[in-house]
Formats: sequence, structure tokens, C-alpha cells
Amino acid sequence: MNTTALIPVDYENGFAHPKERELYVAWWEELAPYIINTIQETKRAGWLIIPTRDMHPEWHISFVTSFVWKEPLTDALKSWKDPSAKNFITYEEVQDWTEENNGLSKTATFSVEELKVYLEIAGTQAMWPEHCRTDSSSSQYFWWIEGLWFDYEIKKWFKPNEECYSGFGWVEMIQNIPLAKLLKNLWVQTVQILWLATDYCIKATSLDAIKNGFNVKLLTKWIAGVDPTTTVKALEEMRQAWVKIIE
Ligand SMILES: [Zn+2]
Repeated sequence: MNTTALIPVDYENGFAHPKERELYVAWWEELAPYIINTIQETKRAGWLIIPTRDMHPEWHISFVTSFVWKEPLTDALKSWKDPSAKNFITYEEVQDWTEENNGLSKTATFSVEELKVYLEIAGTQAMWPEHCRTDSSSSQYFWWIEGLWFDYEIKKWFKPNEECYSGFGWVEMIQNIPLAKLLKNLWVQTVQILWLATDYCIKATSLDAIKNGFNVKLLTKWIAGVDPTTTVKALEEMRQAWVKIIE
């Protein structure tokens, strides 16, 4: 009986592949050998492998290109920008927008009302460069292990007006298998989470795994963050939530 599952988070070209690097996460190169070894060892140990996969439609609510007067939180190759109002959008900012008078680009595929509904719950949304679009090679698995390897996959296949960093998903994703239900059906008690990014999808997925009653292990050598400051904070937050973090 399997009681442990390995969850590689967003192991995709858009974050890593030299040609894509739409939302390049620094230090991923150092993780690559661990990922390959870990997946091979996991297979030998008989554990399950259940990756999550970031999949956005064009002109998504999280893309900076869906807005005017905004700047990306990160550039593709690759400087971290200081967080400022231009790198995020908040509910306070949009609550007075109307369908006629707003800060959406002409190409945005969601309405002002949908944006308000989303931000009222989410509070804030980072402005990311376009990445991991559903029909592009950016949302394909990173080629080193493509085709090997997984038992099930969780597609974070978003609607245009919703975003969620966690593989457990608080939004209704298209054709998704709920991860918590899947793990419970498979008798999984412990999950080991790896890859990217510590301060966003790893943090959200780990905290949700704890909330859903699973033991969570992270090896710091298996994960990397977008920004050093928020990465340190994310590790502390996860420690306090009883995520077992192994240096
Ligand atoms: Zn994304």
C-alpha cells in the first residue's frame, strides 16, 4: 500500500527551459539533478508521483499583459523587481472600476465584474509575465523527464478570471481531479513536495496539504524561490504550520 506521494510542483518549461524562461526561477539548474534522482528513487521505492501543472489561458487574470499601467513582478531573464503597486493589483484598486472606465487592456478575456469577484476573495494578485499557456510548449513538462514518469497529474487549468497557486485549489479548475480526494483514495498520508517556487506554489500547496490532514516534508535542496526575501518568510510560515523542512 502506498502511503507517501511525491508532488513535483509545476515542473514545466516556462519556469526552466532555456528557450522558454517566461517566468524563469533562478537556481532551478541546481535542482535538476536532484529532481531526476529523486524521481528514479521514488519509482524504485514504490511511492506515487503526482505532479501539478500550471496551465493558463491566453490573457489570463494573472498576466501583466491583461492590464494597462502595470509592470511584471519579475522579468524573464531575470531581475526581481521591488514589489510596488505596479507589480500587484488589489481589490481596493478595482472596486470603483466600471465596464467603461477601467485599467484592463483591450485583450483581457475577463470582465471587470469577474475581476472584482476574484479579488474580493483573493485580496491581491501578482502581475506575472505570460507563462505556461495551455497550448504552448511552456506548459509542457521540462524535457529532462518528459514522458517518464507520473501516476496521476493535477492540471491547474485555470479559467480566464481565476488563479490559484495551490495544487489543492480553492477555485474551480477545468477538468481537475481534487488532489485531497485523490490522495485520500490512494491511502496517502505523507507528501513530499519539490521544485518551484518556494514562496508561491510550494508554500500554497504545502499549507493546503497540512490543512487537509497530510504530513508534509520539504527538502530545501529540492526547492527554489522567486525572491530571496519572500522565500525566507515562506519557509518560516511553513515551519510554523508544521511542515517538516529538512535542510
Ligand atoms: Zn502561473
